[in-house]
Amino acid sequence: MLPKYKRILLKLSGESLMGDKNFGMDSAVISQYAQSIKSIVELGVQVAIVIGGGNIYRGMNEAETGIERAHGDYMGMLATVINGMALQAGLEKAGVYTRLQSAIKMEQIAEPYIRRRAIRHLEKGRVVIFGAGTGNPYFTTDTAGSLRAIEINADVILKGTRVDGIYTADPEKDPTATKYETITFQECLSKNLRVMDMTAFTLCMENKLPIIVFDMNRTGNLKRVVTGENVGTVVNG
Ligand code: UDP
Repeated sequence: MLPKYKRILLKLSGESLMGDKNFGMDSAVISQYAQSIKSIVELGVQVAIVIGGGNIYRGMNEAETGIERAHGDYMGMLATVINGMALQAGLEKAGVYTRLQSAIKMEQIAEPYIRRRAIRHLEKGRVVIFGAGTGNPYFTTDTAGSLRAIEINADVILKGTRVDGIYTADPEKDPTATKYETITFQECLSKNLRVMDMTAFTLCMENKLPIIVFDMNRTGNLKRVVTGENVGTVVNG
């Protein structure tokens, strides 16, 4: 089976790691993700990953946490490193070579983010996990995903979610909602469909980086997406 994409950036939310839990991570989810990622590495796809931190900490809720936004955002970035380390451990257990690069220096546990080095790892078939988001407060890991995808010249950003694509309305609330197979960036904007936050979305649009939104929790889906099967919703144009 030939992959459609040579180099991809997979964006996973922190919350997806929770499985049925209310906090933290579920080892069954991590090993399922590790197996899915392994299956596309075996096809020869170069894989970079950005993972969120929402299962551990989100900085945005200053009113709720009583912690100043920028300070909380740094805490959120550290949360993404914890998730990155967990995913790294899961992947290595599955026999996949990995490197973790962090946007905030922490030399004992991760390489610093160095673009050319990341590309070299990818060329050698290692999965590169980018931790600590963009390294800046007031951004999200969706933005980190878009930015890194563009920097490493990925062919596409794959946004793994718990819904299987972009719908005309929220499918968890509106039973009449229907799914788009493809949609343009412009249509998303005019229909006010929030695929990612605006900073992340604009980066993809301006740099013509296609986004595929798909359900990462369905076994085999990641492989289906990279081999060009009609899974999820493709945003391009
Ligand atoms: N964050 C940040 N800058 C970044 C990426 C993340 O400040 O470049 C912080 C922000 O507080 C965010 C938290 O890290 O709420 C966790 O990331 P995110 O909410 O994107 O995770 P997800 O929703 O994907 O789990």
